[in-house]
Amino acid sequence: MKSRALAAMSPSASLTRLDFERRDLGPHDVSLEISFTGICHSDIHQVRQEWGPAIFPMVPGHEIVGTVSAVGSKVTKFTIGDLIGVGVFIDSCRTCSSCVAGLQQYCENGMTGTYNTLERDGKTVAYGGYSNNFIINQDYAVHIPANLSLAGVAPLLCAGITVYSPLKKWGAKPGMRTAVMGLGGLGHMGVKFAHAMGAEVTVLSHSPTKEADALEMGADHFVCTKDIAVLKEHQKSFDLILNTVSADLDINLYLDLLALDGTLVVIGLPGNPYEVNIGALLNGRRRIAGSMIGGIPELQEMLDFCGQHQIVSDVEVISADYVDTAYDRTVASDVKYRFVIDASTI
Ligand code: NAP
Ligand code: ZN
Ligand code: ZN
Repeated sequence: MKSRALAAMSPSASLTRLDFERRDLGPHDVSLEISFTGICHSDIHQVRQEWGPAIFPMVPGHEIVGTVSAVGSKVTKFTIGDLIGVGVFIDSCRTCSSCVAGLQQYCENGMTGTYNTLERDGKTVAYGGYSNNFIINQDYAVHIPANLSLAGVAPLLCAGITVYSPLKKWGAKPGMRTAVMGLGGLGHMGVKFAHAMGAEVTVLSHSPTKEADALEMGADHFVCTKDIAVLKEHQKSFDLILNTVSADLDINLYLDLLALDGTLVVIGLPGNPYEVNIGALLNGRRRIAGSMIGGIPELQEMLDFCGQHQIVSDVEVISADYVDTAYDRTVASDVKYRFVIDASTI
């Protein structure tokens, strides 16, 4: 299938138009016309090789929504015209205990990412969603509730599930004092979900200008961390902290904010290792944990939850020629709160 895309040809160049061929539609595949694709900070980390050597040309994009345009002969899950979403991975081994449990993101043999990787045949380069169309095995795509704005749904496919999953795992509920570090793409969805689950939500942000928006999204409190000394006033205050910050920081200052038995979940992945003060963990039986996106069943559950609670991402819809600027604005924390590419402009 002929595809039009926006591609990074090298880590430093601007994104440019690329024409290429996607694989043919197999019996278990569906093809989709892409409507919108979100820009995740992980796209930027990968294009700029902050996570190590990458494959170029790279077509980023793993927050994809569109409409099914064709279905293979064995497809039962979708029909032509359905709204469909594709997230951070397009395949996995299907047989390991993680895959069988629906936790394909933790596939013991390695999930297949949506881009910047080889498909399971070991030779086809996976190209992502900064494109006009896509082909995916039906098992790795999800249905989108019809009552939500489609542009606002795109970021749910990564930003949404990545914060929904740890909030569920660590049991966000009424009375749970929850903090979200960083009010960007992931962070703002964390606020919306934690609020919808009834938790008491505090935003820890280094951008003083984001306070009104945070409260509007459902935060109960806003702490500006521009002067990091402010954290001293909030020691032992939270049961759960989600760290969505995309930059290096001193994690020990934040571990001190955990109450007894509290958990700090690391989600942001700037690429450099943390130095953890073990004393901060011992004192208060605290935990530091990690979490990576979510499996296909939970992705569908999250989208259905959004349909029921009318939750979408706050987006700035952009055209293809604005992507370089959007990257720079995202790195500068100047994003409200997710850039989404209108695929018709590619
Ligand atoms: P984003 O939209 O750029 O948001 C990151 C936020 O971090 C910024 O808006 C800013 O919030 C804060 N921040 C940035 N630089 C900072 C600095 N120097 N000091 C303090 N705070 C800073 O990024 P995103 O798309 O939400 O992604 C966040 C991170 O999660 C990225 O590293 C991404 O790769 C990672 N990620 C992980 C997973 C996973 O599965 N674990 C999935 C997706 C993404 P304030 O202005 O409010 O401070
Ligand atoms: Zn992402
Ligand atoms: Zn597996």
